[in-house]
Amino acid sequence: MRAIVYRGIDDLRLEEVPVPTIRSDEILVRVAACGVCPTDIKKIHHGTVPPPRIFGHETAGTVVRLGARVRGLRLGDRVALHHHVPCLDCHACRHRAFAQCETYKRTGITAGFEPAGGGYAEYVRVMAFCLPGVVKVPTRTTFEEAAMLEPVNTVLKGVRRLGLLPGDTVMVAGQGPIGLLFTRLLRLEGARVIATDLLDSRLQLARRWGATVALRADRPDLVDRLRAATPRSRRGLDAAVLAVPSNAALHQAIEACRGAGRVLLFAHTRRNDSEPVDLASICVDEKDLIGSYSADVTLQPEVARLVFRRRLDVRPLITHRFPLERTADAVARASQPTPDSLKIIVSPLEAMPA
Ligand SMILES: [Zn+2]
Ligand SMILES: [Zn+2]
Repeated sequence: MRAIVYRGIDDLRLEEVPVPTIRSDEILVRVAACGVCPTDIKKIHHGTVPPPRIFGHETAGTVVRLGARVRGLRLGDRVALHHHVPCLDCHACRHRAFAQCETYKRTGITAGFEPAGGGYAEYVRVMAFCLPGVVKVPTRTTFEEAAMLEPVNTVLKGVRRLGLLPGDTVMVAGQGPIGLLFTRLLRLEGARVIATDLLDSRLQLARRWGATVALRADRPDLVDRLRAATPRSRRGLDAAVLAVPSNAALHQAIEACRGAGRVLLFAHTRRNDSEPVDLASICVDEKDLIGSYSADVTLQPEVARLVFRRRLDVRPLITHRFPLERTADAVARASQPTPDSLKIIVSPLEAMPA
């Protein structure tokens, strides 16, 4: 089969590799769509994991082989996949810290080599421990929409970490695909959203996706404007979400939050990135600096309902489609966001299914 193999920093090659073989408790899925995700882009640009690997983890497709011991799935089922699934039984899982579970940290979907998602290939093997993360997709839902379940899940998990009340005011810094998902999901949860970005076109989009206020992130008076946009004599933000790895935004968020507000880091995924913070803002002002990483499997039914019923319509987010052969172009495109580019999808099928 055809696959895009990561051979080193910024080196993605189209290669012929064997179709994965499956065990009796596994399935084989023919990939129909795979989202290009910033976490993979970082690995490709910075070489943080050793090659060779086949990346791509926002995958949807069709079950084409089924181990004899697999229950609850049939050949031909349309499915969305999760490459990390927690055991639900360990100490971390009992604390709902699923991303810290040892089982979760393993990658259970592969197209060959060290498992790394495998979605940039024609077929992927889904290991037994990832089968609880397989979601059946209704026929009216496109594979592209189904490939968005994983990123939507990570965003809903982040929203829930904020512990908001209806009517709370939240800043979302960065209005790329993830920031726009935050804006919409926060709105659906009853929050008021103040969106920031450096691109005017993204601010316009943010308003369409539910932001009450949209501000240029490079305004010198941003903190003042953020506070002025909160009710009851500028009491400050209830929470802020950083959907970009900007340390300037971190300081603005801490400053603009009310006492005991929460600042959520969602994009600071690079190790050894340190930044001085006034610790009294955490101790005395009780502002929480928290993070959220990856998905929460217990939210999956809710995420599927949101996307499948299009209460969260992800289709306008998908702006570019590339055939598998051009995955390197897709990654390059996703690395350099432009006003007209949001989510980028790779597909090994010649024509995308309707
Ligand atoms: Zn992802
Ligand atoms: Zn666990």
